[in-house]
Amino acid sequence: MQKAGAERQLYNPFSFFKFVFPKSILQKKLKNIYMNNSIKSRILRLQERSATLDPSQEQRDDLLKDLQGYTNKFLNNIDNGKYYNSEKANKNAFSIGTKPKLLKEILKIYANEVASKGIKAASAGHLGYIPGGGIYSSALADYLADITNEYAGISFASPGAVAMEQELLDWMKGLFGFPESAVGNLTSGGSIANQIALTAARDRHGIKGAKIEQSVVYLSPQLHHCNHKALRIIGLEDVILRELKLDSHSRIIAGDLAGQIQKDKEAGLNPFLVIASAGTTDTGAVDPLKDLGEIAEEHNLWYHVDAAYGGFFILSQERKKLFNGIELADSLAVDPHKSLFLPFGLGAILVKDKEAVFHSHHHLANYMQDTFDDNFAIDPADVSPELTKHFRALRLWLPLQLHGIEPFVACLEEKLLLTQYFRNRLQEIGFALGPVPDLTVSYFWWPVANGDENAFNKKLLKEIHQKGEIFLSSTTINGKFVIRLAVLSFRTKLETIDKAVSVIDKARKKVQDSTIRS
Ligand SMILES: *Cc1c(COP(=O)(O)O)cnc(C)c1O
Repeated sequence: MQKAGAERQLYNPFSFFKFVFPKSILQKKLKNIYMNNSIKSRILRLQERSATLDPSQEQRDDLLKDLQGYTNKFLNNIDNGKYYNSEKANKNAFSIGTKPKLLKEILKIYANEVASKGIKAASAGHLGYIPGGGIYSSALADYLADITNEYAGISFASPGAVAMEQELLDWMKGLFGFPESAVGNLTSGGSIANQIALTAARDRHGIKGAKIEQSVVYLSPQLHHCNHKALRIIGLEDVILRELKLDSHSRIIAGDLAGQIQKDKEAGLNPFLVIASAGTTDTGAVDPLKDLGEIAEEHNLWYHVDAAYGGFFILSQERKKLFNGIELADSLAVDPHKSLFLPFGLGAILVKDKEAVFHSHHHLANYMQDTFDDNFAIDPADVSPELTKHFRALRLWLPLQLHGIEPFVACLEEKLLLTQYFRNRLQEIGFALGPVPDLTVSYFWWPVANGDENAFNKKLLKEIHQKGEIFLSSTTINGKFVIRLAVLSFRTKLETIDKAVSVIDKARKKVQDSTIRS
């Protein structure tokens, strides 16, 4: 078929005259000048309108002053008022209007609709799920990263940003005994980190097509649910999931893994992946990493360790030995926005087998050809589903430079002791406690001699939530409803734990009184 342009040329009856009497050069020039003047004046008008997107230094100073005023007030009052507010947000308050607002007005909306509802995640009193806090210096790094807007996905675009990311990953390889040849990535969090690892495991073992239904993954019933999500996302919904038996500390019993693999092999199935946790979310349990790693190795299974919560406790001298064997992992996920106290938005993955990661994540597209160069470092974009990414290395690197590693280690050790202290105090009062925890998640319940223990403790947590003086969450252990306390916000201090104990006990008395009355 002919192209439209070619057709027009073929049938245009005037093209002949055009050829004989070409427009004078002068005519053409005049027309261009006229056109360009009109375009230019429109551009200038638009330029004036869009200039507000690039404020002057004076305007920037004013904006920053407002923001600083707000953030200082927020931090100065962070431990006053509620830690949890169950009120819903008013979505209309966020409506996108066409009229601009002053930053002061915008911050008012933020204060009312964002900062004062839900869990105050930056506060000392966030003792539920897995907190972290969000250190200030990391926020400054984000500010800097956003102002300079380095393109952190490709080393051709920002060799500095990529080298910084590589250095942080190398530091983590050192911490966890991974070889230098391992690859890694700074992700938005543990979920994507785990997904990258499981994808690599799938690809190295060629789990696709008819093989999927025959393939077996071994995991703990306490394994974080993002791993289940990841398996479904990467097309492994139909693999066989074998939940392993746990000991009284909620750690996988290694012998059960060995036995299950044997049985599955005998049944003609294809065991290919073991996932252990270094700190489960339910109870903070660290699985027997060495034993599991050795069994995985013996049977040629991919060994993944999800250390999103607990990973950086390896820095604590006292707990280091729990992490023995983590170096046997084929892949390892950690979350600096948990055990390094960063603001949300930073996970990391390390994988020993580069080719396995590249299989799904590395792709050469024509429009990226300028960036192909073997002399550059491995591009973060080759190890992750992301291409463009936030320059998130800076939010970890800058704090490590500014403070050194020592305060982080001190903070982790402080959290371990606070957990112990909390348990001692609750025990004195008469609460029942879960087993001595590996890390900083501990669970407890109020024992009820005659009556529904689960119902009582649910009421107890509800009462604590309603008061909002601290924030705790719950889980179910062997069918039992238990309340969990997770000490990991860097702001959680001795006085926070004392307050938590008194809040919990006050709530316990209140629920007890109301139960007696009813
Ligand atoms: C938090 C957590 C995850 C998920 O990480 P995100 O950063 O929330 O995506 C995975 N595994 C464990 C053990 C976790 O604690």
